[in-house]
Amino acid sequence: MSSARKNGHLYRSLQSMSVIPLLVLALIITVFSYYAVKQAMHTEVHIELRNTAENVMMMYDLLYPGDYYLEGTNSYDFYKGTQNLTDDHSIVDRLKADTQTDVTIFYQDTRILTTICNTEGRRITGTGAGALVIQDVLFSGQPHFYTNTEINGQQYFAYYTPLRNSDGSIVGMIYAGKPCTEVNAAVRRAVLPIILIAICSMAVVSLISSSYTRKLTNALQKIRTFLSKVSTGNLWEELDFDVLRRNDELSEMGYSALYMQRSLRNLVEQDTLTELNNRRFADKHLKQTQMNANTYGNHFVVAIGDIDLFKSVNDTYGHDCGDVVLKRVAAVLKNHMIGKGFVARWGGEEFLFLYDNLELGAARAETEKLLQEIRSMAVDYEGQTVRITMTFGLAEGGVNTSIRTLLQTADAKLYEGKESGRNRIIS
Ligand code: GH3
Ligand code: MG
Ligand code: MG
Repeated sequence: MSSARKNGHLYRSLQSMSVIPLLVLALIITVFSYYAVKQAMHTEVHIELRNTAENVMMMYDLLYPGDYYLEGTNSYDFYKGTQNLTDDHSIVDRLKADTQTDVTIFYQDTRILTTICNTEGRRITGTGAGALVIQDVLFSGQPHFYTNTEINGQQYFAYYTPLRNSDGSIVGMIYAGKPCTEVNAAVRRAVLPIILIAICSMAVVSLISSSYTRKLTNALQKIRTFLSKVSTGNLWEELDFDVLRRNDELSEMGYSALYMQRSLRNLVEQDTLTELNNRRFADKHLKQTQMNANTYGNHFVVAIGDIDLFKSVNDTYGHDCGDVVLKRVAAVLKNHMIGKGFVARWGGEEFLFLYDNLELGAARAETEKLLQEIRSMAVDYEGQTVRITMTFGLAEGGVNTSIRTLLQTADAKLYEGKESGRNRIIS
């Protein structure tokens, strides 16, 4: 059977039935967990950036009480209270070192102190905030969190909060931010184990499902092959024991197929009255026996036995009684032949015996025992006792003998037995 046939349509259908929903489930879990983790991470970043921005504000207020202002004529100096903070990045730098968060202090919309540097490593002080931030924070006076703000050519998660002086007026903004790449990498790191678990469990489940499906379809395939052989007349085909020991509906199906085969065999190869094998069976098995003898060189003996004066049984006790006698005789013959070969109903009250692996003398001794049994058999029928005898003709076969000749010899011996007075064995 080709592997394409093995993994046939049914296998693929069953496998898809279990794997496709799993695949969809794994996909849903992955997408859902990605968005859930992303959302949670954004919330966390939002809180972290807000805390950093508030810390910045608090530290400047604690260290340098007073308002923020610019002073000077040509180049403005940046003050808080009495402290000139121009180019003094110590506080923002320390915060960045502690929290890995970029910090910027804006005076109005201009960066005065910042941890963000350009590609040449210079701080981007003196640059302006984006129009949206100016609108959202500076003009509206509300803090704002952005998940994607471009600063100096890089995308940031950014928190902006207005910077107020003691009279409540807005003088600038404080910014705290983290590069998007960092946050996204953290999201990916958090989601990766979930994806790996989903993939691994899918692989395990599909392996288990594949193994079950394969066993199931293999069993079905074996039943199918068995049935197709039976349907083409192979009544001796054996069904794989793996199917029968499954202990499920498929093994029941296997047993039903076997019973069907047995019934067919009985119909074709069994005699209905005596339940012995019929002539068709005997013909086939005689040929097989001769072939085996040709191969292995063993001897065998063919015998034909005929009930003596059976016509008078029918005439005296009736045809039904004749049938009962035939059945009883058949049972005795069958029992006698167990383990020795086989017996078949060859014609009306005529039986064919095959003694496997025996030579003529030994077969004759066996037949003597059988004849003795027949002689001592009493069949009770409607208050009357019927007794019968039989006559046998024997012929020995071996390498390259002819079944036809053997049958003719056995028949001639039988005739000889009848002629010489019946109730005897001629070999
Ligand atoms: P012989 O000893 O020479 O064999 O005598 P016989 O009477 O047995 O032989 P014959 O061939 O004259 O008769 C055979 C009889 O067997 C005739 C037939 O009615 C009977 N017979 C054959 N088949 C059946 C059967 O199935 N049922 C019954 N009841 N009788 C059968
Ligand atoms: Mg007879
Ligand atoms: Mg006869």
